Amino acid sequence: MSARESIIPVFVPHWGCPNDCVFCNQRRITGQREPATAQTVTDAMKQAAALPSGAKRQLAFYGGSFTAIPEEQQEALLTAAKSYLDAGELTSIRLSTRPDAIDGAVLRRLKVYGVQTIELGAQSMDDRVLALAGRGHTAADVEKASRAIKAAGFQLILQMMTGLPGDSDEGAVETAKKLIALRPDGVRIYPTVIVKDTALCDLWRAGLYREHSVEDAVRVCARLLPLFEAAGIPVIRLGLNPTEELSGGAAVGGAYHPALGELVKSRLYRNRAEALLTGIEPGSSVSLGVNGRELSQMIGQHRDNLCWLREKYGLRELKIISAPVKSGEICRLAVEKPAEMV
Ligand code: SF4
Repeated sequence: MSARESIIPVFVPHWGCPNDCVFCNQRRITGQREPATAQTVTDAMKQAAALPSGAKRQLAFYGGSFTAIPEEQQEALLTAAKSYLDAGELTSIRLSTRPDAIDGAVLRRLKVYGVQTIELGAQSMDDRVLALAGRGHTAADVEKASRAIKAAGFQLILQMMTGLPGDSDEGAVETAKKLIALRPDGVRIYPTVIVKDTALCDLWRAGLYREHSVEDAVRVCARLLPLFEAAGIPVIRLGLNPTEELSGGAAVGGAYHPALGELVKSRLYRNRAEALLTGIEPGSSVSLGVNGRELSQMIGQHRDNLCWLREKYGLRELKIISAPVKSGEICRLAVEKPAEMV
């Protein structure tokens, strides 16, 4: 999504969901409790009037299983959204739903109302993990729905999670590879957050689930991001959007961090720096160069990367300097060995 595209969210919390996935409490995550109506769409459009003129505007139905909502209510919401699309006040409509709530009839209806993008909650491509999460669908459902969505000409966004019960870093990498094979137009990665009033929260409090910490999420996501990048698939979101509700106490554990994406990018820099520092004599002074716009990502929050690398490689000094290199690249500018220092 470019900087000039804005999403106008309309939350349909938990609507259409046939069951509760163990990690999910959409009312807590979105902070919205009332069901959405055509008036909710109108209100969201009024609020969006303040967006910069010229920005592309996408109306997005999020937070539930849109295509599993009773047809009449789906149509009421879509009719309201389409009126803004027809008037040129919106550039497109997108929605999120479950893989087992997609079929030919559903896709035909969405086409009629001008929906352009469908986001599917895949979460994992391991049937055991899906069952433990209470998802109620299989990996085969994700594959079938994804193919149908692409064949019908919609943009496909796939969502995956890390740190679900029974999952592992290797499992997440396998899921990412299987999602890449489905050639989505983008992915969202949501490391598991423990939200109040969920079955997962009960499991965690009972000692039956090990929390997926921010560090766990950063470690595994730093493996996933390069896979999607190498496949040319944009990661359009990493981590739950911070909300007042979540920050105000609904997120009781797990990988909740308002800048998780930045932490992962910073970790990627740390990993790349390690490749350049391996084998350097302890006590050396080293200067590394990165693109000037990404100095803070390399240095890390609270200078974490700098301190960690200096300590791990026993460096006397580690300097990070702006250099004429591409975004994401890193180069070794100078190494002064201990014997060379006076
Ligand atoms: S994760 Fe999706 S399908 Fe599961 S309960 Fe939440 S909104 Fe519904």
